[in-house]
Amino acid sequence: MINGKRDEFTSVYKHENVICFRQTVRRHFLVFSMIVFQITSVCAQDIAVGLMTRTSVSTVLFSPTDGKYVLLNEKEDTIYVFKSDDAISVSITGERLLVKSAYGLNDTVSSVKMVGEGNSPNFHVRFNDDKRDYSYFDRLTISPSDGALKLVNHVSIERYVARVVQSEVGYGAEEEYYKIQSIICRTYATRNLVRHIVDGYDLCDHEHCQVYSGLKPATNEVMKATSATSGLVMVDQKNHLILSAFHANCGGQTANSEDVWKEARSYLTSVEDTFCIHSRSAVWDKSMPINEFITQLGFGSNSAEVGDWNFNQPDRKKYFTLNTDSVEIVQMRRMLQLRSTYFDLQVKDGNVEFSGRGYGHGVGLCQQGAMKMAETGYTYSQILGYYYKGVSLIPTTSLQPEK
Ligand SMILES: [Zn+2]
Ligand SMILES: [Zn+2]
Repeated sequence: MINGKRDEFTSVYKHENVICFRQTVRRHFLVFSMIVFQITSVCAQDIAVGLMTRTSVSTVLFSPTDGKYVLLNEKEDTIYVFKSDDAISVSITGERLLVKSAYGLNDTVSSVKMVGEGNSPNFHVRFNDDKRDYSYFDRLTISPSDGALKLVNHVSIERYVARVVQSEVGYGAEEEYYKIQSIICRTYATRNLVRHIVDGYDLCDHEHCQVYSGLKPATNEVMKATSATSGLVMVDQKNHLILSAFHANCGGQTANSEDVWKEARSYLTSVEDTFCIHSRSAVWDKSMPINEFITQLGFGSNSAEVGDWNFNQPDRKKYFTLNTDSVEIVQMRRMLQLRSTYFDLQVKDGNVEFSGRGYGHGVGLCQQGAMKMAETGYTYSQILGYYYKGVSLIPTTSLQPEK
């Protein structure tokens, strides 16, 4: 534990204590609670991220950018020390790897590990014929897998989080908002560390897990926000890591988890949200012929014969019913490719006209609402506590028994 880190946390929490809720906050907003546990220790944890897992990589060109790098073989013996401006190529040859450098290395090995020394060793790589430089921190291991290269970046979880947040949020957001996405990302990562256990790494670098791009290094702004929340994750009242679901825009009311994914979760319950209703994804519309509507939903002819009708959701509903037919709105969204499940319908001139609100599944944190709250002056813990009910922020070290 670095003392500086503890001071940083202390100052964040002190800052929160003196911020008063605004007069304009709705009454129910005052009852949410977010317990922030005293930070006693934070350890740097590494995470193994599978790189380019959806591409068949047969050749990699590796160059250190900062820090002293060495090359280890499968027995962890150092077989090469990188010089400045050095580069090695690693390519698949049968069941083994061919490793070559400009300075005479020419060897075949079962696997290789590039390990850097220093505070923040980092390197860049090129994959196959791609001329773009992908940059990463810390270590890279390469091994053969089904006739291609398996690439795994062992990186500190905080650097991983910063990179993912940069991809997810982009540039120019509020610092508090970057902190929010950092905690969401870290919670997700910590909860899903076994997701790719059969593949030999923790998480992949695609949307399947979280997008971790070698082409989008984190800005100082994002690094600062990640560092300010270093090690913090969200847990429910049983001290279990939460499913940190989020979506672009809820349209004014978030959805219950059980209405979208069957399973109810105490912290993923519907809340009203007036912060997002003027944001860019707040409303949408769509029109389709009524016959097409009936057919795509698989409804019977009885429904097709129904004349004028309306369907309204002053509050989010679970089912859409027409005559004797009924469908879960979440299924309807998928079948009709709608932007959200939160819409009203009316029939006009033989068409079904949708007046929709929001974008995405609607469960958990509403990104555009949270961004607006951050701009308005709410802190990250207030905002997280608003969208995830009854959760607490704890350091990852508190998830394990004390030694
Ligand atoms: Zn994945
Ligand atoms: Zn919203």
